[in-house]
Amino acid sequence: MSVFSHPEFDGHERVAFHFDATSGLRAIIAVHSTRLGCGLGGCRMFPYASDADALTDVLRLSRGMSYKAALAGLPQGGGKSVILGDPRRDKTPELIRAMGRFVDSLGGRYVVAEDSGTSVPDIRLMAEHTRHVGGLADAASIAAGRSGDPSPATARGTYIGILSALRFQRGSDALRGLKVAIQGVGNVGYRLARHLHEAGATLWVTDLHAPAVERAVADFGATAVAMDEIHALDVDVFAPCALGAVLNARTIPQIRARIVAGAANNQLATPADGQRLLDHGLLYAPDYVINAGGIIDIFYEGPGYDEAVVHAHLARIGSTLTTIFERSAAERRPTGVIADAMAEAIFRR
Ligand code: NAD
Repeated sequence: MSVFSHPEFDGHERVAFHFDATSGLRAIIAVHSTRLGCGLGGCRMFPYASDADALTDVLRLSRGMSYKAALAGLPQGGGKSVILGDPRRDKTPELIRAMGRFVDSLGGRYVVAEDSGTSVPDIRLMAEHTRHVGGLADAASIAAGRSGDPSPATARGTYIGILSALRFQRGSDALRGLKVAIQGVGNVGYRLARHLHEAGATLWVTDLHAPAVERAVADFGATAVAMDEIHALDVDVFAPCALGAVLNARTIPQIRARIVAGAANNQLATPADGQRLLDHGLLYAPDYVINAGGIIDIFYEGPGYDEAVVHAHLARIGSTLTTIFERSAAERRPTGVIADAMAEAIFRR
């Protein structure tokens, strides 16, 4: 298993491996860049098939966080961690505490937050051993009804991004009478549906989980559709809010919406799919730009949290996307390529 010559290495500042014999913790922390600030990123726990798979995942994700933080206008770098194991079977308080000590050993170069396989209670447990944690609401915020869940901010940011795409393409962001198809109505997708419904859009939804669909149908009058049909509906906007790699050689030619803008991470199956979207005349809001609401919210989390400040920052997602759309049209290059170049200009300067 190579590290320095790994295809995803990309000049990572630090890659740390840790084994804790008492708890059985096997974990990797990757810090891609701290030029703009500490490397913030979630801790993913997953039963990787091999150590090599875990390394590839953590390097890819950590690098992605540098791009995301840069274009979100945050004074932060990119980092990520992975715990090798099945969260349902292998997670113990001792293992999570050991992860907290591992995070602490990097002295603040890496700040941990929740990701798939870890939860807010896990991060709280880590916080007993390190102060380098993000995404935890303080006691006053919790008393005021905040949970520390970044999904509402992610949904709001995604909604702002959809408005920006509409303005760019149609000259108006009026949603009344427009049709939007949402793939996945979980934490983010459901809240996005609420924003769109309140603005007058008509919704089509799908989800793996039937009760999630039923809730969107009941609350927003959405129309339920089969999972393999959602991307191909005759709508104005397709919003992927479930899983990755949904934009690929098979699906892109079937998409009838002119705008693809949703919260899911890693929507492009391959880099070539960015060009494919452009060739099909689809306006694609790069995933890590439009779904940055969560990381923005986490940045402001803690004492003195001010929702108005967070909302003002979320509004910048719209202006960043407008710049990306304009440059993409002028240079005839995919929006994702433009976004990457803009991010690199920020964190590599
Ligand atoms: P979630 O698990 O709450 O919701 C995802 C939903 O998608 C679930 O209801 C699930 O049943 C459904 N789903 C899974 N596979 C599906 C399929 N093949 N077809 C249709 N539906 C399917 O997750 P979430 O927090 O809402 O996040 C949604 C996406 O946004 C993920 O890709 C996540 O990585 C990304 N994202 C989330 C945040 C956040 O703040 N939660 C921030 C940035 C990015």
